[in-house]
Amino acid sequence: MTASAPVILVIEDEAPIRRFVRISLEADGYHPIEATTGQQGLREAESLPPDAVILDLGLPDVDGLDVIRRLRSWSQVPIIVLSARGRETDKIAALDAGADDYLTKPFGAGELLARIRVALRHRRQTSDAADSAVFQVGELKVDQSRHEVSVGDREVHLTPTEFRLLAVLIRNAGKVVTHRQLLKEVWGPDSVQEYQYLRVYMGQLRRKLETDTTRPRYLLTEAGIGYRLVDE
Ligand code: CA
Repeated sequence: MTASAPVILVIEDEAPIRRFVRISLEADGYHPIEATTGQQGLREAESLPPDAVILDLGLPDVDGLDVIRRLRSWSQVPIIVLSARGRETDKIAALDAGADDYLTKPFGAGELLARIRVALRHRRQTSDAADSAVFQVGELKVDQSRHEVSVGDREVHLTPTEFRLLAVLIRNAGKVVTHRQLLKEVWGPDSVQEYQYLRVYMGQLRRKLETDTTRPRYLLTEAGIGYRLVDE
C-alpha cells in the first residue's frame, strides 16, 4: 500500500464479506476504508473522498438507494453495489439512481477487481473527449467521429439508431447499462418502457458485429437488467 493507492470505500454491514473485500483489495494494491452503516459510509465519503465506493444495498440503518442518491447529490465517484441473487429490481433501481455497476453475492475476487478497474478507468476518462476516440476491443473497431465500424477486415454498416445504441454502450464500456437507460438515451424519455425496441435493435447489432449471436463476444446480456459491452 502506497500513498498513491486508490482509496476504495467499502460500505457493508456483513463482517465476512467486508473482510473478503478488504483482503482482495489490499492484495491488489488498493487502500480500502470500511464502514458498517450507511451513515458512517456517507461521513467517510465526505471526509476522504474515495476513488470508488463499494456499497451493500441491504444496510441496517439507511436504504442503500438513499446512500446512492445522497452521494450523487455532490459526487460523481464510481459506485459499485452489492446485491443478492434474484434481487434484479434492486439492482435496476440502484443503477437508475446513479450506481455505476453491481456485483451479485457471492462474487469472487477476480470479478470484484475487474469491476473496480472498469470503474476507475471510467473515472479517468470522463475528462477526455471519449466520444471522439476510436473504441477497440478484440476484432471490433468503432471510429465514433467518422461513424466507421469494422470487425476484423470486414466493414460494417450500421443504421443511425444502431450507431446511437452502440455509442451509448461504448460510453459505458465495461459497465452494465439498464434497459431504461438505453431506451432513454437512444429513443428518448417517452420510450423507457419500449423493451421490444431494444430486443430488435440489439438483435440487429449482434447479427452485424458478432461471429456467433448465440454466444456473443462483445454485446453481453445482463439477464433482467440490461446490456454490457465488454472492454477487454
Ligand atoms: Ca447487508
